[in-house]
Amino acid sequence: MNFISTRNKHKTVSGAAAIAEGLAPDGGLYVPESFPAVSLSEIAALIGMDYPARAADIIGRFLPDCPPAVLLGMAEEAYARFDGDPAPLVKTEAGVYVLELWHGPTGAFKDIALTLLPRLLTQSKALLKKTEKTLILVATSGDTGKAALEGFRDVPGADILVLYPDEGVSALQKRQMTTQEGGNVAVAAVRGNFDDAQTAVKRIFTDPDMIAGLKRYGYALSSANSINFGRLVPQIVYYFSAYADLLDEKQIRPGERVDFCVPSGNFGNILAGYYAKRMGLPVGRLLCASNKNKVLTDFLTTGVYQADRPFYKTSSPSMDILISSNLERLLFEISGRDDARTAARMDSLSKTGRYEVTPPELAALKELFYAGYAGEEAVFDTISGYFDETGYVLDPHTAVAMAVFKAYETQKAGNNQTVVLSTASPYKFAADVLRALGEPVPADDFKALAALEDATALPVPDALSALRTKPARHTAVIDREGAADFVLGYAAERGQIVG
Ligand SMILES: *Cc1c(COP(=O)(O)O)cnc(C)c1O
Repeated sequence: MNFISTRNKHKTVSGAAAIAEGLAPDGGLYVPESFPAVSLSEIAALIGMDYPARAADIIGRFLPDCPPAVLLGMAEEAYARFDGDPAPLVKTEAGVYVLELWHGPTGAFKDIALTLLPRLLTQSKALLKKTEKTLILVATSGDTGKAALEGFRDVPGADILVLYPDEGVSALQKRQMTTQEGGNVAVAAVRGNFDDAQTAVKRIFTDPDMIAGLKRYGYALSSANSINFGRLVPQIVYYFSAYADLLDEKQIRPGERVDFCVPSGNFGNILAGYYAKRMGLPVGRLLCASNKNKVLTDFLTTGVYQADRPFYKTSSPSMDILISSNLERLLFEISGRDDARTAARMDSLSKTGRYEVTPPELAALKELFYAGYAGEEAVFDTISGYFDETGYVLDPHTAVAMAVFKAYETQKAGNNQTVVLSTASPYKFAADVLRALGEPVPADDFKALAALEDATALPVPDALSALRTKPARHTAVIDREGAADFVLGYAAERGQIVG
């Protein structure tokens, strides 16, 4: 199995190289040369496996160079970090199941990929006989940075540095950063907002002196962002796993189609569902749910991608995105793998903020996807309404998906069994969930956790309640201009001069 770039399909690389490089040199994203087929009997065989074994089975089809026992060992290590089953399926109503993807170390679905990616990266480098250490550098508005820190901590061959804005993360998120454990991590607050932190990181990535300086200490700079195939592939697993669980519980017949409703931002999660379908999983429709930043809804209904539009801050911040980078992989597929056309569209996006697909492509997209969005009022109404009806507590991201699914159901647009993907623990957004439920909202984040527990009887995840008493280990606050020195200082302390 080789990988090709969405912007040049004649450039082929191994899976290990695709993961180690992240982005193709032409700016395109790596995609598999073909989709490995999984038969219905192979899907049924997943029933007898635990989650790590299911992960090794599905991922191994894309990475045949990685010995199966090694892959299984990595999946076992990654998913041991979870509190029980990494992807349990909860029946909330007749024909409706919630797939909870937030039982990992940081309480959000990014843990599923970010606990495994560091191990895939280390193994890929070993296969390629690359000896330099990887320095992962991340600017975060909160969630991704914490999930990356947890994923990379104490992974051999990689160090991780995270910069977060001093202003603009919640008190709880700040504690998640300052208390981070691990011998290969560093965290600093950057004075200013997210843009300040992001600008500091971008400068480092594009500064040849920095790259050369880090190289002297034995480091190659890398990022953990969601376009790396190593982040996408672990997400394909839970679509198969959910289907196997439905079969196991006799909720569906073998081969029966199931719809999946996905709260979307960067389009990584739902793209994994599309990949699962291409591999043979009986997926009916993929319901793409957006918040008020409904660029994907508009694209999937009109065929015009228009990034140049107002940006809204919502209660589902991980979906506040106007450029959905993983959409490039879907464009590549629906154009019949036309690399030149895909490259032209991405060029148009960067120059004009816009591109358009052809009428036949739009028809194909509509066949595959239903798209809808939920504004803030609908999100809050859905959290309270769903709790009243079913006793199930939704976080704001999952509430976006549930609202869109309900609209789809009302239109009688489908009658398959539906799996709604739940991407965050309600406790990550305790204040908004309390507000939606009509409860008083304590100003203190930890009091809000306790209040939500009182209101819903759902237990606070241990990882969040433990933060209260953990000692702060990372208290550095730096200026945007000081970021390069901070990074080099870390490399000088931890690295070894080479050459
Ligand atoms: C990242 C994230 C999303 C969006 O997922 P994409 O893969 O970017 O579409 C949704 N919900 C939560 C809680 C997230 O962290």
